[in-house]
Amino acid sequence: MLRIAIVGAGPTGFFLAEKLLGQDTTPLAVDLFERLPTPYGLVRYGVAPDHEKIRNVTRSFDKVAARTGFRFFGNTDVGRHLSLDDLRQCYHQICFTTGAQTDRHMGIPGEDLPGSHAATEFVAWYNGHPDYCDRVFDLSAERVAVVGVGNVAIDVARMLCRTPEELATTDIADHALEALRTSRVREVYLLGRRGPAQAAFTNPEVKELGELAGADVTARPEEVALDPLSAAMLAREDDPSTRKKLDILAGYAGRERSGKPRLLAIRFLVSPVELLARDGRVGVMRLARNRLAEGVDGELKAQPTGETEELPVELVFRSVGYRGIAVPGLPFDEKRGIIPNQSGRVVDILTPERAPLTGFYVSGWIKRGPSGVIGTNKPDAAETAEAMLADAGAGQTLSPTGEDIEPLLRQRQPELVTWSDWVKLAAGETARGKPLGRPRVKHTRIAEMLAAIRSTED
Ligand code: NAP
Repeated sequence: MLRIAIVGAGPTGFFLAEKLLGQDTTPLAVDLFERLPTPYGLVRYGVAPDHEKIRNVTRSFDKVAARTGFRFFGNTDVGRHLSLDDLRQCYHQICFTTGAQTDRHMGIPGEDLPGSHAATEFVAWYNGHPDYCDRVFDLSAERVAVVGVGNVAIDVARMLCRTPEELATTDIADHALEALRTSRVREVYLLGRRGPAQAAFTNPEVKELGELAGADVTARPEEVALDPLSAAMLAREDDPSTRKKLDILAGYAGRERSGKPRLLAIRFLVSPVELLARDGRVGVMRLARNRLAEGVDGELKAQPTGETEELPVELVFRSVGYRGIAVPGLPFDEKRGIIPNQSGRVVDILTPERAPLTGFYVSGWIKRGPSGVIGTNKPDAAETAEAMLADAGAGQTLSPTGEDIEPLLRQRQPELVTWSDWVKLAAGETARGKPLGRPRVKHTRIAEMLAAIRSTED
């Protein structure tokens, strides 16, 4: 029986377990390890609370967890409770599905001033991630800049614009609901360094901004007008989705205020070059205006025109992409923030032939970088599963000498969280939400989670 460890219980971990347990040519068992007591990764801690439907994907993860041969080991930090060597002793194959756990920086002066934050931390905070629940974001600010025009930037801008009534029926963390209830934010700027045709956000997400109950959305006609280089590219590539995006944005251009309390302004062709302090915290963002120019790779890049402007803002969220972090003991590609691999097989970048490291695999964002929607990880996991099964068929696996890891793990982490513990915890969260018309009220501290699990024990 092939014993497989998957490290990281986000969507990719479940898609991979599903693929492996769903085949019947190679008998195998899967143990899914997770640092937090809770499963689902970014589906729980990344998806915006007002996008509850996206969380429905957890139903299929729960079906995977019910399969014979599946075990969940939550509250287990691989690297602390278990070493890579411990795993090597007990498993034939080990796959890391640890995602991209940190964020990219803008690299500009003033980036670390009080009031300047990573969007990913704000997201984790409003979603009740235990590592971020004590963060403080000063929502007495009236003007906020969100740097980047990807879907994370849109989530952050939208959450800042939602009314307390809209938020009150979601599973947003209680501390964030309270803070956003008294928010004084009036203007939110979404800042794209390139043009509208290059914006990374997807159409349903940008369309939703035009339908907010408490905020008017606007854009500048001259910034959403198609430039000749993008027009030529669009004519060559015939891309209906980009055309639709441009139509949506054109619809926002020059929109008048309708009297809603907040304004969400989408800007293009501007890059933050410096954050300036006022009274010891962010007060002004200096922006360089850009034009588009063709890069050596044929991609359209932002090029400064030499003009600058100053945008008064008291709060800044950089939303310029996630970044993977290295796993001690495995190679790491610092430039791309991924574990180097070929079709999911971890490869040794120090050898000229990039030889695969027998028994080690990756899938999801730590394999390809932080791109795509949740579903993109399904074919990604299928590719890694195929490599794992082919290698197992060819006898290319680790040679574990140890037995079941659970006794050792229980010694090292007496507060291990199993799948049945999680089911109890989740049922308690749902029950807390029910009288309030909310899908769940999340526990946001690990001690609280463990106490809630213990309270259900006979
Ligand atoms: P993303 O889609 O890669 O967007 C990053 C944005 O940051 C881009 O607009 C990029 O502009 C900009 N940027 C990068 N470096 C910059 C710099 N130095 N200065 C100014 N701007 C800079 O990343 P993301 O928003 O973090 O999202 C990650 C993935 O999760 C995406 O695939 C996204 O679709 C997905 N996601 C999906 C949903 C959803 O489906 N609702 C929600 C959240 C996230 P350039 O294009 O010019 O580089």
